[in-house]
Amino acid sequence: MSMHNRAVCVFCANPRPIYAAKVQWLKHLASHREAMIAYVVDNFEKCPLGAYPRHIRDKTEYAGHIRWAHTKKELIEWAYRNLIESQMATYP
Ligand SMILES: [Zn+2]
Ligand SMILES: [Zn+2]
Repeated sequence: MSMHNRAVCVFCANPRPIYAAKVQWLKHLASHREAMIAYVVDNFEKCPLGAYPRHIRDKTEYAGHIRWAHTKKELIEWAYRNLIESQMATYP
């Protein structure tokens, strides 16, 4: 396991590398809830958060689904695994 927890927060207005442990990352990501919802809606045709990906055509409905069918924790954990942790792997 790498000691370098360096990654760029894709949701910050001025992205810069952040060195932080997972707990701190989760706390940081929690401040970007609306941006994370928008990111998922814009980049994933099917909701990737659940075990059974759902295709929701209407963007407002899709955003509502993420907001209400999934917990904030699920969203944050998903963002950490897919957007933050995946970057760390590239810094050996
Ligand atoms: Zn950020
Ligand atoms: Zn879902």
